[in-house]
Amino acid sequence: MSFQTLGLKPELLRAIADSGYETPTPVQARAIPEVLAGRDLLAGAQTGTGKTAGFILPILQLLGTPKAGETAVAAGRNGWRAPRALVLVPTRELAAQVAESARTYGRYTPMAVTVVFGGVGFNPQAESLRRGTDIVVATPGRLLDHVQQRTIDLSKIEILVLDEADRMLDMGFIHDIKRVLKLLPAKRQNLMFSATYSEEIRTLAAAFLHQPVNIEVARRNAAVDSVTQHVHEIRKEDKRRLLSHLIRTNDWGQVLVFTRTKHGANRLTKQLEDDGIIASAIHGNKSQSARTKALNDFKQGRIMALVATEVASRGLDIDQLPCVINYELPNVPEDYVHRIGRTGRAGASGVAVSLVSADERGLLKDIERLLGRPLLRAQLPKISEPPVRPGRPAQPELDTRGNQAPHRDGQRHGQGAGQAQRQNRYRGNRGGGGARARSG
Ligand code: AMP
Repeated sequence: MSFQTLGLKPELLRAIADSGYETPTPVQARAIPEVLAGRDLLAGAQTGTGKTAGFILPILQLLGTPKAGETAVAAGRNGWRAPRALVLVPTRELAAQVAESARTYGRYTPMAVTVVFGGVGFNPQAESLRRGTDIVVATPGRLLDHVQQRTIDLSKIEILVLDEADRMLDMGFIHDIKRVLKLLPAKRQNLMFSATYSEEIRTLAAAFLHQPVNIEVARRNAAVDSVTQHVHEIRKEDKRRLLSHLIRTNDWGQVLVFTRTKHGANRLTKQLEDDGIIASAIHGNKSQSARTKALNDFKQGRIMALVATEVASRGLDIDQLPCVINYELPNVPEDYVHRIGRTGRAGASGVAVSLVSADERGLLKDIERLLGRPLLRAQLPKISEPPVRPGRPAQPELDTRGNQAPHRDGQRHGQGAGQAQRQNRYRGNRGGGGARARSG
């Protein structure tokens, strides 16, 4: 199967070739022809399956194809180009990434893309909308602000995408979504992507999709198969040392670490830094610019560990991320699937490690029930000490059961050569670059 056989135009094939993609992913192979044919779509596809290109490519093509009696670019009510495709997404990060994809894949087309999300200035977005645009990628709240300020005209929308619909519902966007739906022309094409299928998702799908084609690229509610998953059962108070040890001793490159709370993310980031591992936190209390900086630093390999909370992690698109660590298990089992969807992307293999303390056993059971199988319990490694910084007391070793073993003296005097070497390894950029930013 090649992109040529999917019926895409040369200007899109050229952009795909620039991105280095050779074959369509399964969701692309199935979605692109259906969307081009004008069908509604319900796709059970997680992040990492290539779903973004699966809807953006055919949208670019449809918008660029004049219908009988039309020019390629329709004029809006007031003479400017009103958007004809609207992509609703749950988070700012995902909005930025989908918009970037649309610009990348559309670089040889005349399509203009505007991204609309909160936490940044309103006026530049209004200005971009005023200049005329074809595709708007938006989070629901800010989109409705533009509606209220009359800075957007949704009356020309022909194609609507709900991306990561399950997450939008989790985040309480259902009323906003319903308000947006009411503002759109009744006759339009609808595409909905969701990693999981809850009753609520089915209800929403039934309410607004018209005889949709159903595409399922991974087993329902199943974790990405290419990800090797295992669990370390460990006492809560030993998690941090195990984490530092795992990062130091495995050849993972960079890791994405999940904590349950913002405070926990901040604290763990500091502790990792104490252990000589360059880390940064990304969560909802951080300003948009701090989040963007942390993500860019991570993508460019300037940080080793990105510590994230659930919401902030949504839609993070980081290629070639070999390892995701659940420092704490999520409360909602579906979130486990979302989290580990950050690794093993587009067919690459990945590792997902969960550190599970006794109080989390119930959560682990829920996750295993969702996956339909138990997760492998890996033996605890012998935990080596982190490099000791002057003024910081050394920690005793843990044995394989998590009990403290006596100190080995020689290891904890000051900043020896071993530490310098390790710090080089973690502070520097390993292997010619960090997690690669999405290229398309
Ligand atoms: P998505 O599921 O849309 O978030 O995409 C996951 C990642 O796969 C993105 O980083 C894309 O750049 C990458 N990707 C998308 N389509 C392909 C393809 N056909 N071949 C290789 N990589 C792809």
